[in-house]
Amino acid sequence: MRMPVVKIDHSRCVDSRECGKCLGICPVLTTYPEGPPFKEGVGWRISPTFVSLCTGCGECARLCPESAISVDE
Ligand code: SF4
Ligand code: SF4
Repeated sequence: MRMPVVKIDHSRCVDSRECGKCLGICPVLTTYPEGPPFKEGVGWRISPTFVSLCTGCGECARLCPESAISVDE
C-alpha cells in the first residue's frame, strides 16, 4: 500500500507560531525551530513527522489558510 506524501511549502508557512492550525488537528504534523533552538528570530517549521499515521484525509491541506500543505495519495 502506498503511503500518502504530505509536503509543506515553507515559503507560505514561514513560522508556525503565527498559526498552528494544522498542529491542532493532526498528530502527524510537528513543529521545530529552523536552525539552532533558543536563538532569536528563527522560524518554527511544520514537519510531517509521524508519516506512518497519515491516512491521506487531506484535512490539514483544507484547513491551512496559506495553502502551504499538499497531500499526494
Ligand atoms: S492528510 Fe490527514 S492524516 Fe495526513 S497529515 Fe493531513 S490531516 Fe493528518
Ligand atoms: S495551518 Fe498552514 S499556515 Fe498554519 S501552521 Fe499549519 S502549515 Fe502553517
